[in-house]
Amino acid sequence: MIIKSVQGETFAAEMSEVRSGKLTKSNKLIKWNPYIDNRGILRVGGRLSYSQLPERAAHPAILPKNCHVSTLLIRHYHQKCNHQGRHISLGTLRNEGYWILGGQRQVSKVIEDCVVCKRLRGKVQEQIMADLPEERLTEAPPFTFVGADVF
Ligand SMILES: [Zn+2]
Repeated sequence: MIIKSVQGETFAAEMSEVRSGKLTKSNKLIKWNPYIDNRGILRVGGRLSYSQLPERAAHPAILPKNCHVSTLLIRHYHQKCNHQGRHISLGTLRNEGYWILGGQRQVSKVIEDCVVCKRLRGKVQEQIMADLPEERLTEAPPFTFVGADVF
């Protein structure tokens, strides 16, 4: 219901063209050869009709970018694949049956904002070392300066 509602709001014009079977060149979904399944969900047609993949993976549902539902889905599958990078997160999302337009950019945005990833991929902090003492920088005969460790 949620997917259908989002698609209905965002792709109303495109979906009516798909229903009529006459896609114009101005249709921004034309390159995915979209179709509407028997439950009314707009899906990627693509070229995988004869593949052994489950239908959701071969024909994922098309979702818009900059949409709250898309962001929630990206976040969910990013967490589900244990905070992997953009490539694997996007692959998981597509495998689960969601095709988000501009997916790479959208997934990158979610990963940029992910607190766990920020912590795991953060730079190791390095402290600035203090200046060396004069005794170590002055040329002098051996044993001019002597240090002793406390045992
Ligand atoms: Zn993450």
